[in-house]
Amino acid sequence: MNEVGRNLAYTAMLLLALWAVSYFWPSDKVEEISLEPALLNPTISVELTALRDLDRIAVEITGRCRLVNAEDPQRPVLKELHDVDEDLYLTLVGPQLGPYIMHQKHVILEAEGDNAMRLNTYFYPGRLHIRVKEDKKSRLGQRLQLSLELPLEDYVLGVVCGEMSSQVPGSAAALRAQAVAARTYALYRLGQGRNLRDNTTDQVFQSIDFVTKEALEAVASTRGLVLRWKDQLLPTYFHRNCGGGTANAEAAAFFRKETTPLAGVFEPACRTPRGLWEHRVPATDLDELARQRELGSWLRAISVLHKDATGRWLEVRLLGPDDHVDLPADQVRAALHFPSTQVTDMERHADGSLVFRGYGYGHGVGLCQEGALRLSRSQATYAEILAHYYPSAQLVPLTADLELLLP
Ligand SMILES: [Zn+2]
Repeated sequence: MNEVGRNLAYTAMLLLALWAVSYFWPSDKVEEISLEPALLNPTISVELTALRDLDRIAVEITGRCRLVNAEDPQRPVLKELHDVDEDLYLTLVGPQLGPYIMHQKHVILEAEGDNAMRLNTYFYPGRLHIRVKEDKKSRLGQRLQLSLELPLEDYVLGVVCGEMSSQVPGSAAALRAQAVAARTYALYRLGQGRNLRDNTTDQVFQSIDFVTKEALEAVASTRGLVLRWKDQLLPTYFHRNCGGGTANAEAAAFFRKETTPLAGVFEPACRTPRGLWEHRVPATDLDELARQRELGSWLRAISVLHKDATGRWLEVRLLGPDDHVDLPADQVRAALHFPSTQVTDMERHADGSLVFRGYGYGHGVGLCQEGALRLSRSQATYAEILAHYYPSAQLVPLTADLELLLP
């Protein structure tokens, strides 16, 4: 055997030995078989309302990203970019890259991997849909509509950070309860065919800049859990402080039908002197309300027609010189901007203004955030907090039959 032949033989023996070792050696590449069902984490969309009235928004993204034409069903890439910083702007006529403006009505901006994008001041996760909408009320007849497309769990994290102070001592269980309520509400709302907004019309959603480890823990430890009632997602409304008792959603005209988990609970501990508020409505605002409701040129009186056992106003009558109208008290609260319908006192002043006094903040339906914090500090678990505010609702993992309610 010559030298070349010997080398070939050695190489063949070496390869054979390596194959034998790799065959019998336990491999760390064995595929994992998980017995846990995969937790559903659907992609959802939320509108960034704080940015909608701006003419020009600066974008910063570290790493690769691309602009995609969403008007074309093929979704062609308009531009590949790398390390964007102050050279990309979102404007009322379309994205502007340096001097070049893309006159597109609907563009998607997507960063590679998990990179976040800064829009003016704050960083956001997900893919950004940039739409130029007709709007006669705005200065140029157009406005921007920005919507983030992101995984549900990332959205819930932003809501927990937006809706509660996550670094308050003893708040861990309250934060978890808030995470479940926020997750369920979002899916319920989307299932109704509504868009989610990042403000109090739905739930306050904060950027990545506000994420805390406490909020991350609250979302991770309740991952995929929602509240169900009668095989559907429960409309898990929540508010800041109930002022002595949460509202019965049906009696407060939130729903037409009785909803057991939203029937209201007594909570005397929320009626404290510290929570007392006073709110003055000027005569001009009262008159404006009378005109809007076609009651005449001024508001003669507000009378309470129904209260619940906790003293919460349920229905009120607005009386003007020409007519009267009976309304759910929460509609009047929203119109006159007093903080809650737990009104204890109403006083007319000589200048025609009306002073309201009462307890609590928000519509009063569902979970009371300040009450949840109190329960959390007295060692209640998040499941106990949810059972307190949403009695008879079931805490369950999000399953495909519930998820399918998404449009
Ligand atoms: Zn309360």
